[in-house]
Amino acid sequence: MNWFRHSAKRIKRHLLRMGPVGAILCYHRIDDDDNSAQPKLSVSCDNFRQHLQVLAAERYEIVQVRDIADGLATGCLPHRFVAITFDDGYADNLLNAKPLLEEFGLCATVFVTSGALGNPALFKKWYAEPRQDCPRPLTHDELVLLADGGRVEIGGHTKTHPLLAHLSIAEQCSEITSCKADIESIIGRSIVSFAYPYGGHDHYTDETASAVRNAGFTSACVTHAGLVVPHIDPYRLRRHTILDCSGNEFASQLRKIFDA
Ligand SMILES: [Zn+2]
Repeated sequence: MNWFRHSAKRIKRHLLRMGPVGAILCYHRIDDDDNSAQPKLSVSCDNFRQHLQVLAAERYEIVQVRDIADGLATGCLPHRFVAITFDDGYADNLLNAKPLLEEFGLCATVFVTSGALGNPALFKKWYAEPRQDCPRPLTHDELVLLADGGRVEIGGHTKTHPLLAHLSIAEQCSEITSCKADIESIIGRSIVSFAYPYGGHDHYTDETASAVRNAGFTSACVTHAGLVVPHIDPYRLRRHTILDCSGNEFASQLRKIFDA
């Protein structure tokens, strides 16, 4: 019995390697300030540069999340691809991450909590003891600069970052549609990618996914781990959380992700 299970797993892995397969990476902040209340959310600038070096050297096709949704819809996904994503909408995504993405000619997707734009109070309330050095969200003007040029796709992450599954469906719809409208009015173009706040199995429901689709988003990301392969549900795109680690550790993590 074990032999059969083992062989089936090997065959599945082999088939996976033959077809298109991709990984979506989930970052939050790129900053050297590891004194913040949530250091696990930060990757240092030097380590992020090393991660980008690995991605550039290993020749994965780097795509944005909207490209993955398009590829799933048309059946034309790249052979081996990686998407770099950031959650919440921190100012350091513009100040630290974008210049490094430009240096390596790579692209990314940033999921923005629209009610936090220019409103540090929303991020501060996440901390048990609000601190002066709480990470700052993007301002409206900074969001425009981040979206400028198309290297960074802007996606939605609700208006106030609630745990959606705990809200009524009407409240969920309001969080999702107002976020889309807010961001689109600031950057002057439509947004199509979404990430559920917190993103775990219990943090969204089938109704949440329908509300996201009905609002006009073509995909939604979660935070549980897994690869992107053809025919998966675009409203449950799995991601791998990347912690602060060296380029060597990142390269080994990436190999494990694709060999899983
Ligand atoms: Zn978030």
